[in-house]
Amino acid sequence: MDGPSGTGKSTVSRRLALAGSAAYLDTGAMYRALTLAVLRADLEGSEPATESVALAAVPDLRSVVDPGAPRILLADEDVESEIRGPEVTAAVSAVSAVPAVRTALVERQRAIVSDALATEGGIVVEGRDIGSVVVPDAPLKVYLTASEQVRAARRGAQDRKAGRSADIGTVLADVRRRDRLDSTRKTSPLHAAADAVVLDTDDLSVDAVLEELLRLVRERGLLT
Ligand code: C5P
Repeated sequence: MDGPSGTGKSTVSRRLALAGSAAYLDTGAMYRALTLAVLRADLEGSEPATESVALAAVPDLRSVVDPGAPRILLADEDVESEIRGPEVTAAVSAVSAVPAVRTALVERQRAIVSDALATEGGIVVEGRDIGSVVVPDAPLKVYLTASEQVRAARRGAQDRKAGRSADIGTVLADVRRRDRLDSTRKTSPLHAAADAVVLDTDDLSVDAVLEELLRLVRERGLLT
């Protein structure tokens, strides 16, 4: 599952994984946790330092792939809530654009996918480059889209629910900024894989998106 922020990827990916007794991997959480490590190291934005702090934190990452309670741990600390805050959100696109960071995380993500395929009922993986880079032979690739306004409204509602302030203008500016950075970076920019099913979710409820995903999953014989 790929697509920009605010398309409902996480919600529908988790629900799809629950419905199919599959594991669930949120790769954005991995980039966010490394960004937190970089922010904690209090750097001044110089690329080599960012790269070395982020790479040093990779072995400390642990993704819990239970769709009922997904979590990310950084050196055994549960950082799930902290990585959703505005500081990490503002800095994550820059950290995720560093090529060596992407190489290291893609390797981890592929290992998690192979483990899940060997031991569980498959896996739903969400991010920006899953169908294009991480799992190019995935049996189903979905790319979710929605207009900026709808995505900003969804992000704002999510922030308010989590108790964070959410001025809609600020959220829209952040959505646009991250879209621009994520789509124009040199390494693995955000784009739909050529063989992805593109779903525009502007006028679709979460239930309607899930229904369409379940239809696709069944159609491909991935869920009996
Ligand atoms: O999905 P989420 O909004 O949590 O992702 C946070 C950021 O992590 C994205 O804006 C993007 O910069 C980066 N990301 C990425 N590749 C992925 C997943 C996330 O570059 N597979």
